[in-house]
This record gives sequence, structure tokens and C-alpha cells, in this order.
Amino acid sequence: MTDSIEVPTNFIRQIIDRDLAEGKNEGKVVTRFPPEPNGYLHIGHAKSICLNFGLAESYQGLCHLRFDDTNPEKESEEYVRSIMEDVQWLGGQWDGEVRYASDYFDILYDCALELVRQGLAYVDTQSAEQIAEQRGDFKRPGQNSPHRERSAEDSLALMERMRAGEFDDGAAVLRARIDMQSPNMNMRDPVLYRIRKVTHHQTGDRWCVYPMYDFTHPISDALEGITHSLCTLEFEDHRPLYDWTLDHLEGYLRGRDLLPARPRQYEFARLNLNASVTSKRKLKQLVDERHVEGWDDPRMPTISGLRRRGYTAASIRRFCDMVGVSRAGSIVDMGMLEAAIRDDLNTNAPRAMCVLRPLKLVLRNWPEGHVEQLVAPNHPQDESMGTRSIPMEREVFIDREDFLEEANKKFKRLVLGDEVRLRYGYVVKAEEIVRDADGEIIEIIGSYDPDTLGKNPEGRKPRGVIHWVPATLSRACSVRLYDRLFTEENPDKAEGGFLAAINPASLTLCAEARVEPNISVAPESRFQFEREGYFCADPDSTDAAPLFNRTVGLRESF
Ligand code: ATP
Ligand code: MG
Repeated sequence: MTDSIEVPTNFIRQIIDRDLAEGKNEGKVVTRFPPEPNGYLHIGHAKSICLNFGLAESYQGLCHLRFDDTNPEKESEEYVRSIMEDVQWLGGQWDGEVRYASDYFDILYDCALELVRQGLAYVDTQSAEQIAEQRGDFKRPGQNSPHRERSAEDSLALMERMRAGEFDDGAAVLRARIDMQSPNMNMRDPVLYRIRKVTHHQTGDRWCVYPMYDFTHPISDALEGITHSLCTLEFEDHRPLYDWTLDHLEGYLRGRDLLPARPRQYEFARLNLNASVTSKRKLKQLVDERHVEGWDDPRMPTISGLRRRGYTAASIRRFCDMVGVSRAGSIVDMGMLEAAIRDDLNTNAPRAMCVLRPLKLVLRNWPEGHVEQLVAPNHPQDESMGTRSIPMEREVFIDREDFLEEANKKFKRLVLGDEVRLRYGYVVKAEEIVRDADGEIIEIIGSYDPDTLGKNPEGRKPRGVIHWVPATLSRACSVRLYDRLFTEENPDKAEGGFLAAINPASLTLCAEARVEPNISVAPESRFQFEREGYFCADPDSTDAAPLFNRTVGLRESF
């Protein structure tokens, strides 16, 4: 999880250090990552994963993976599977089996009954609208429900009938009896249990009453012996309820020997990326409405999208380290994420040549049928990466953008009547242009200087060095170039909503590209294609149809 020896400290580490110094929790550190399986994980979750698993690792503690699965209608096994895969890919190693809040439905139900017995919860049989109306708002105190004084006996009986399926969805809820006047809305007799007659992905049809998140979370943490329960700042106002729940159930759980530790909740700022959205609900909308091809579309800020785009797990962890952990919210520049992967690939990706928009160059003085194997280093600074051979033949492809009929001296590429060097090869000259009926350039005819391999021609200076591939001995491939998915810095605040800020040109397909032959096109092969950026072979890439995604350009482009 941690790649650097120096882990930057943060306020949560300081809290843990203090707890350990005071001998709290018998010196144990147990954290958890608690996703709801209602979508794929995104880059914001990566921050939470790195934090929770990273803390467990550096304090020789444990981190649990626990699905917070209390909303069966929005959740699915597909999401469960994708989340496990993403956490694992990022390097998170959870302790023991994967856990589910639904593993605790029996004990959660017992805890609910216990609160009723203590006079701390009651069944409310008003409609959802009535309950909402009585809740008041920030300016208006709430009103007590007419059922607030229902006896524990009656509430227990009603709760059993709710569980037995005697009521319809929404006909009754269990509420905590706290304080309808509280300035904290979460403390105004929050709902603890509701009726949902839907099949659950883990428990099937065993239950038709489901606990609410705010009730489930503290108890699940307590049952698992979580010492430090870390969540994002929007849960700060929920902390009093978290503590209230445990304060009143601590004795009960301890009595049943079910309280290994008394957990504490701490909040940190969410990660937000500019020109991006990090909300599962919005990402789901992009997928459902087919603005992208799926959750793992390389334009998506999901972990699976970034992986498909070519990001390495190490680069995402590095990015999370750079972002750090604090309580101050901020929007992180996408450039920082891009810098993290660029750094990684600059060191670790072998170089290769790929021509995105091929234009044929015929060298008339190259002997017909003759092939020469040129040797190229796989990395300019790292000899241990070895070399490969690139066959050179009479016809080669260069990029259309590397040729102009006329240009001033600043154009360091091929110009009619002038010379340029083919990378790792010879100096070539453009002599004639062949056009089609529409006047478009379809071919260049020229020559090469056989005396220029690895040395400069005497008395002449080629304009520059360009990349190329042999025409018949290269492989056809497709290359996808990506631009940002949103044109606005803050799509959430865009006029017309985030969908209105979608960049219509976020994907460019180079369907006629050609890549040099002696490199792997197997999925996840990564390269710097010289002068074009860093690329990764897509999971759909095959020998018959190689497909590359541009992970990031060579330089910051925004
Ligand atoms: P979303 O708003 O995208 O649905 P969520 O908070 O509802 O996110 P959960 O599945 O509940 O998603 O999140 C699991 C964990 O990841 C939680 O502890 C949550 O606080 C954390 N998390 C979610 N989004 C971010 C983020 N942008 N930055 C940091 N942590 C996050
Ligand atoms: Mg959530």
C-alpha cells in the first residue's frame, strides 16, 4: 500500500499516535473501508482506501473491507465484485473474509429491540410525508410524533409485525427517541429501520425490514472491533448519532461479549478533482444514459476506468500521498493525477514508435525488397530495458502532421525539398508529392542517404528527427486519444447541470494507425510512443486487432 518509506504525517496519524501513547484499544489499530455496493469505485474512494489500508499497514494493524449493504434496491452483486477487484488492484489487503453489514442483520435487529426496551426507540406509523413535515428544518424546530409516547410493549409488537411482513413499504418505521428540538437535524428522532419488500443481493428474501446507515454503521464498527472509523466530512453532523447509538448499546453489546473495542469516528475532507465528477450517482447516470461506454470507460474517473486508461496502481497511490489527508476541503487539479502517472511511466514504460495518421514515404533509392534491421534502445536512460529491432524497408509511414509542403525553419519535421532523420535510422529527403483526384496528399516520394546511420551528413543539417514505422512490416492498430470528459472546471456547477458540460470531443479514434512490429500488443502492455505520449493496450487488444488507449500526453496540455 505504501510505496515510499517516508509516509507524510496527518492529523489522523497524530490521533492514532496519541491513542497508542495512552494505551487505548490495547494498542490495536483496526480500520475499515466501507463502500456501499451501489456503483463502481472512483478516485475519491482511492483516497479512502489508501488511508484506511495504509494506516493498518503502517501501524501493524488490520483493515476490513465491509460492504455497507443496507439499500438493497440500489445495490448488486456486480458492484460487489467490481469493488473487491478494484480494492485488490490498488493493493488493499483486507483482513479475513470480506464482510457485509448484512452479516449483522440479526444482531442489528436485536439492538433495535433493545433500544425500544430502553424506551429509546418507537414505531411510528405515520406516512413518510407526515414525518418529514414534522421534522422541521434549520430554522424551525421539529414536532413530536403522536406515536412518540407509544409504549415499549406496543412498539415491540409492531416491530415484530413489520418484520413478519404485515405492513406495506412505508407504512411504519422505527425511530430513535432523541430530541425533536435538536439543532442537529440528524438527532430529531431519526429513522432506524424501514420496510422494503425487495430481495437483497446477500440475504435474499429473509428480511423485509432494513436498518438505516446511521444505525448500522456504528454497530458494525463496534462488532468488528474497529478502533478508528474514518469517513468524509459530510458525516461530521452524524457523529452525535454514531456516539448516541453506541452509548446506549455499549452495555448490551458488552453483555453479549460483542464489543471488542469502542470505535470513534473521525472525519476528513473528500477528494474532488476538477473537470470531473466524483459521485457514484452521477457516474451511474453517465453510464445509464450512455454518455460513456461503461463504468470502466477510460474517460471515467473510476478506478476501473483509470486502470483501463493505463494508470498503474502505484501512480494512484502516489497521487493519494501527494493529496494528503486533512479536514480542509479542496479541489485537486487533474494535472496532479496526470503528473503522477507520467512520472511512473517516464521511468518504467519502454519506448516504441506508432504512427497515428500514416502518410506513406517511398524511398526511391532503397533497393526493392531489401529489409534492414535497425536497433533501438527500449529506454533512453535505462540500458537494462534492452533493445529491439525495427525493420526498415523501401516504404515507410510517417505522421501526416510531420509533413508540410512549405514551412519556415521552426518546423523541425519533413518539408518538400528538405531533409529529416527517421528516428534510429537514416536521413531522408522529400522530393515529390503524389496527390489524389481531390488534391489531397497521399504519398511522398523521396530518397535516403545511406551514409547517415548513426552519423550526421557532412555539411548539411536535417531539420529534426521524426518517428516512423515500416509500411508493410508494421502492424495495423487502432489508437484512442482522450480529452477531458467535461469542458468545465467544475461540471457540478455548470449551467444546465453536469451533463451539459460533457465534452463532445472527449474521444478521437485513430483507426488507421500503424505500430512497429516487435512489441507486445497484449492487454496492459504500456509504452511511451515517441512524441505522442504514454499508451496502454486495451483489455480488448488482440494480435489480430491491436488497440491502444492514450493514458496521458508527454507534457501537461491544459
Ligand atoms: P458517492 O458520493 O460517490 O456515492 P459515497 O460516500 O456514498 O460516495 P461509499 O461507498 O459510501 O460512497 O464510500 C465508501 C467510503 O469512501 C466512505 O468511507 C466514504 O467516506 C469514502 N469516500 C467516498 N467518496 C470519497 C471522496 N470523494 N474522497 C474521499 N473519500 C471518499
Ligand atoms: Mg455512501
